[in-house]
Amino acid sequence: MNLKFVVPIIAAAGIIAPSIFVQNSVSAEEVNLYSFRQPFLLKPLSDAFTKQTGIIVNSVYAKTGVLERIKAEGANTAADVVLTVDIGRLYEMAEAGVLESIHSPIIDAAVPTAYRDPDGQWFSLTSRARVIYVSKDRVAPGAITNYSDLIKLAYRGKVCIRSVKHDYNVALIAAMIAHKGKAGTETWLRGLKKNLARKPQGNDRAQAKAIFEGECDVALMNTYYMGIMATNEKDPVQKEWAAASRIVFPDKDGGTHINVSGAGVVKGAHNKTNAIKFIEFLLSDESQRIYAEKNMEYPIKAGVALHPIVASWGTLNPDTISLKKVAELRATATRLIDTVGIEFGPGA
Ligand code: FE
Repeated sequence: MNLKFVVPIIAAAGIIAPSIFVQNSVSAEEVNLYSFRQPFLLKPLSDAFTKQTGIIVNSVYAKTGVLERIKAEGANTAADVVLTVDIGRLYEMAEAGVLESIHSPIIDAAVPTAYRDPDGQWFSLTSRARVIYVSKDRVAPGAITNYSDLIKLAYRGKVCIRSVKHDYNVALIAAMIAHKGKAGTETWLRGLKKNLARKPQGNDRAQAKAIFEGECDVALMNTYYMGIMATNEKDPVQKEWAAASRIVFPDKDGGTHINVSGAGVVKGAHNKTNAIKFIEFLLSDESQRIYAEKNMEYPIKAGVALHPIVASWGTLNPDTISLKKVAELRATATRLIDTVGIEFGPGA
């Protein structure tokens, strides 16, 4: 809506309210977001940004289809910034040519090189680790320390995982290919298939539930779900799921796999300067703290405190491989998953 146009008409009609006038007087400065990230997380951040800069943030939330929407809207898109999760989505947008190359010393100083696009088309804002959840009751401390332990004979019929073709697992396997090679990763996938307790299914939290219920002893999941379950007042049974498991941070073969949430500036953004300012703001200590507190993720910026619950899980040994390299290996990972046939469930 062109507010500069609307305001004089309302004023001429003599019905202008002071509050409307005040709002419109600053609305020339705005930034438009297309976001996969949920309002509970984004709202405190955008409110803080508006408070600090006076720039109004307009947000469109979507669970899927953001790339398709930007593509369909073409040069007419209102989007200035896109916020999403998973390196696969960020890379896909860059490959589709809908993101602008941005070079900001503030962004570059905040985000480690491995976790941003070398061409400046996307930047990580938070990280999450894909770790091993083990049963507190049935897996002794130290018995499992690395992803490679999941294929040991001792865990035959005891491993749970969501669809291996889910983005989270595809990225994990792509990173594994980078570290161990294709043959080494195929061996691991075949071993994992043998050790599955059931056909890959459910979301991440469903794996913790399965550990709680005794269906499996070991699962692969993202870190923040432990915190979300442990503090879930709406669905308190999830606290029991959390309490049944312990997190193991792999420290070999590159360490613990890292995935991210991130942002990019949309090509041809009408509010490009504000878009860059917004991303820089999301990398401020204040914003990084909000992310850490609200969603139990790891700040991407060094020196920002972890949520106490996140800190209680132990020391993360993050894989520092370039996420662009991981993204480039996603297609190879997907083919390998098909070759092994792990989606069909346990078996040889
Ligand atoms: Fe998730």
